[in-house]
Amino acid sequence: MNNFQTKLNQLAPGMVALVGVPSDENSSFLRGPAQAPGHIRQMLHSGSSNMCAENGHDLANEPRLLDMGNMPLGPGTWQADGSPTITRHITSLLEKDARVLSLGGDHAVTFPIVQAFAAKYPDLTILHIDAHPDLYDEFEGSRVSHACPFARIMEAGLAQRLVQVGIRTLNAHQKAQAEKFGVKIIQMTDWRPGMALNLTGPLYLSLDLDGLDPAYAPGVSHHEPGGLTTREVIDLIQAIDVPLVGADIVELNPVRDLVGMTTAVAAKLLKEIAVKLLA
Ligand code: MN
Ligand code: MN
Repeated sequence: MNNFQTKLNQLAPGMVALVGVPSDENSSFLRGPAQAPGHIRQMLHSGSSNMCAENGHDLANEPRLLDMGNMPLGPGTWQADGSPTITRHITSLLEKDARVLSLGGDHAVTFPIVQAFAAKYPDLTILHIDAHPDLYDEFEGSRVSHACPFARIMEAGLAQRLVQVGIRTLNAHQKAQAEKFGVKIIQMTDWRPGMALNLTGPLYLSLDLDGLDPAYAPGVSHHEPGGLTTREVIDLIQAIDVPLVGADIVELNPVRDLVGMTTAVAAKLLKEIAVKLLA
């Protein structure tokens, strides 16, 4: 029995399962995000910061937060139309009535994760922070590329509503896709700090770290200047006032990071998201 299955027995209703999804084979440009979960854990426990979220909730003394380790992913994890393996692992966590915080991995992992969530929460709203809409029907011959997850999610009807923030790469194809699927896109050109998003629950948060400006988060595969500040992303998370049932932090590429800067951002955001999942 591996670590993941052992931990599964310790998971009880109302707990938050932190789980690594070490997968980057659907990245179009660079590999590296598969190594991210270990780097984020190391940063979290490095002593460089404490385990307190900004509201004073100390996650070091939080028995309801359980680190599952990385989910076991063997060869054949991915098929042409998704990853039944990832969906099955997330389903096993949701069956325990836990809330799930997944650490990617590249953004391809969000489709099989949300497949599991949609089965439990048919009226899911998704808040998606990213430089990219990730709405390609296919990218370089793949329908499970990290450029495609939200096309798969929307065409399968897995979310009642999708709201995207941080977008600054919208091309004609993805604009047409957004219109087809009724995606609400708040592009950076229209973004103002403190904007009300009028979200409803149950809410799933998908956080691609390249939504932040590369000045704040250089450790990503696709540098797209003109993004959100770390503070703006923290404020977005802290403003969530509906039930947050799941989240992912994806696209950290430790190979590209500078002095662990982006990893520290990921660890910081993890704490803010975890207290919302525990609320
Ligand atoms: Mn993305
Ligand atoms: Mn992106």
